[in-house]
Parts: sequence; C-alpha cells; structure tokens
Amino acid sequence: MVRGRVLNGMRPTNKLHLGNYFGSVVNMVALQDEYECFYAIVDWHALTTGYENTEELQDNILDIAIDWLSAGVDPKKAVIFIQSHVKEHAELHLLLSMITPLGWLERVPTYKEQLRELKERNIHTYGFLGYPLLMAADILAYKADTVPVGEDQLPHLEFAREVARRFNHLYKPILPEPQAKLTKVPLLPGIDGRKMSKSYGNHIPMSASPDLIREKVQQMVTDPARIRKDDPGHPEVCTIAAFYKVFLPEGVDEVFDQCRAGEIGCVACKKRLTELIIGRMEPIYKKRQELEKRPDYIRDVLKEGAAQAREVAAKTLEEVRQAMNV
Ligand code: SF4
Repeated sequence: MVRGRVLNGMRPTNKLHLGNYFGSVVNMVALQDEYECFYAIVDWHALTTGYENTEELQDNILDIAIDWLSAGVDPKKAVIFIQSHVKEHAELHLLLSMITPLGWLERVPTYKEQLRELKERNIHTYGFLGYPLLMAADILAYKADTVPVGEDQLPHLEFAREVARRFNHLYKPILPEPQAKLTKVPLLPGIDGRKMSKSYGNHIPMSASPDLIREKVQQMVTDPARIRKDDPGHPEVCTIAAFYKVFLPEGVDEVFDQCRAGEIGCVACKKRLTELIIGRMEPIYKKRQELEKRPDYIRDVLKEGAAQAREVAAKTLEEVRQAMNV
C-alpha cells in the first residue's frame, strides 16, 4: 500500500501548552502510523514575526522537540527535523518567489489580519509578506500530498495549491497539489475561560508537573452563580466543564447532569478533573524529565531527521531546477 505523505510544521515561538497538545500533537502521534510523516520545527517562520527577539529561539526549538518526543512522536516512524537545517526549503522558496504574483500574497486573509493584530511589532517586512510562500515551499519540497490543518489555515493551503499549479503550468507537472486533512480541534480554553494562550498567561504547559496542574485547576473559573454546593450549576459557562469535554468525553454528560442537579460541588468536581489531567499528562511529564537529561539524543534525532528530510527535498529541487533551467 502506498502511504500518503504528510508535512506538518510548528513554529518554535513558545513552549507548547495543553491547547497545542490536543490541537496538534495528539494528531501527529496518530498520523505517524498511517502516513509517511515529515514533522518540521519551522524556525524560519518564527523569525517572520519575531525577528527582533531571538534569544529564546534555540531553547524553544529544543523544547518542542522534547515535547513531541515525550508525547509519543516516534523518530522511527516520522522524520523530525528543524527547517533551517534543510536549506532546500530556502532555495525552493526563492525559486517559487519568481513566479508568485504579489497580489496573491497580499490577498492571504491572515496577512492583513495579523498586521492589525500584531501592530505593536514592525512586521511590514518582505519576510512576513512571504511567509505563506515559505509554507508552500515547506510542503512542496517533500511533494507532500496531505497537510493537517484547522479551518483557519485553509487559505494557506489553497495558496500552496495555486503556486504548485502555476509552477506545473509554466514548466513541468512535477509538484503535486497538496490536500487538506481537516483536523477537529477540541476547544480547550485557558484557565480564565478565554482562548488558551501564553500571552494571556492563562495556559497550562504541556510539560506541567502534577503540582502545577493542581495549582492551575485550582485557579480555574467555575460557574459564578453557584454559591452553595447544592445550587444548580451551569456547565456551559464553566471552564472546568470545558476541560471535562476533552479529558472525559465518555462521561461528560453524567458530570453535567450532576452539576445541573446540584448533586456535585465545584470542589469535588475540580478534584476529579485534576486527577484526570494528571492521569493523562503525567506519563508525558515523566518521559520529558528523562529526555531532558539526554540533550545529545535529542540533537541526534534532529540531525538524523534533517539528513532524511534533505534526501527527499534535494530530489525535488533537482527536478525543479531542471524544469526551470537553472
Ligand atoms: Fe463547573 Fe463542575 Fe462546578 Fe458544575 S460542578 S459549575 S461543571 S466545576
């Protein structure tokens, strides 16, 4: 059976949190058994919005690699590497930039959106405008046919498909148009009920110790209208309830019924959730503790991954150069 090929990239801008774990890492672990997977820590992408502060970049790269490995991403099954270690990404980006109309880049919805959202940073740069093309090069360098994306990233993938089509039309049909594999991302809010984000300070790190998990769950916002233990609760406004949906999907209805009937107090409800989160995350935390003591092993995994990735990308580049006569 010919397996499809997946490319998945993650920007090393921050340490991963539980939202990233459920939104992406869980899926990466599942995909590696079904597909030929290339998992890239895309450090050049981190520069597109964070070029001014790069002090933590190397630490973040290592942290993501450790987070992936401790969660079960397996270097025997998937190719794990750092984007900047495979220079073919840059060459393909350059070559594709010759054929990419500026208007296509300016039309990518996230471009204007992010310019507005990140207005405190000066990202009116060539690199930031071109990041969807770098993303396209990341995918096309491996002729990946499958890209796991959330709804919000569909325009990026459509852009990559358009670039591949234009290349194939101008030169030779050698770049397959990648297909989206839409991933259902469970909604995990931060401890204050807003979107989980390190910049809001409301996140739970993926590498949290059991003690830190206890502390974070303790701080979570519950139904404010519930004063006494037997008051009927409203799980739809409670952050703890949103976590139950992810950590106890099969038993969530029962918990919600008990809450609405005032049969369970918030203290007990939090305690149960704490144990559920620890039960799920503690093995990852322990594995991480082990891996942190083996930085040479992590470096070897990344080095070996880059060599494997380079082999594939170099072949594509050879074809691309030939097709373009350069
Ligand atoms: Fe939230 Fe649980 Fe309290 Fe209901 S009982 S409000 S679900 S913490």
